[in-house]
Amino acid sequence: MRKQIVAGNWKMNNGLAESKKLAKQVAKKVKKAKIKNANVIIAPTFVSLAGAVKATKKSKVKVAAQNMHFEENGAFTGEISAKMLKSVGVKTVILGHSERREYFGETDALLAKKVDAALANKMKVIFCFGEVLADRKSSNQEAVVENQIKNALFHLEASAFKNIVLAYEPVWAIGTGETASPEQAQDMHAFIRKTLADKYGDEVANSVSILYGGSCKPTNAKEIFSKPDVDGGLIGGAALNADDFFAIVNAF
Ligand code: 13P
Repeated sequence: MRKQIVAGNWKMNNGLAESKKLAKQVAKKVKKAKIKNANVIIAPTFVSLAGAVKATKKSKVKVAAQNMHFEENGAFTGEISAKMLKSVGVKTVILGHSERREYFGETDALLAKKVDAALANKMKVIFCFGEVLADRKSSNQEAVVENQIKNALFHLEASAFKNIVLAYEPVWAIGTGETASPEQAQDMHAFIRKTLADKYGDEVANSVSILYGGSCKPTNAKEIFSKPDVDGGLIGGAALNADDFFAIVNAF
């Protein structure tokens, strides 16, 4: 059975005190509910990672970073490496988010290097991709997504996919309140799984969790998560409130 995952991407929100508070609230709710199936991840900013790790220590909640550099150390002002993340107890990293691609110029080629560095450091990767509105309007969404996946991941061995979670985030649905319909999400997730199957075979394709992200809320999560190829969500805005986030965790 594939892992069901709900991950909260806090983006550039919350200082240390707020992050610790929110992390504690989430951990408490998850613990109390004795949630067995869903894997819960939170991704605060770099400055709050150590605090969030501490705040969630006695719970099943895992802490992820929102980005990292592919080099180990050296003259890369302002950057953080995989080893540094691991030094504060973070073993998961989100890579390829559309905001990183759009505002920080991250290309597929750069992301391939970051994925390699994370895996070489035995970290887990939540790899994001998704089409912009113009691609969807011109019915190019599948070609765009296929290229993003191929360019950044298809140099990997099949075994690497044990440590990779995919997150389909249509850019037009991020922070806009406009969610992909459950059918649109399912169609794309099935296409992604087929793309994986064509390259790596059914066993790998059927074992990789594929999350949906983009205006996922307590009111729509249940329907989206009920689709056979949707294995959970990557949540932005609604992850900043413990009640909303937990309602989404509970939507399985
Ligand atoms: P929203 O849930 O705010 O649309 O953001 C989704 C997202 O980008 C998660 O990474």
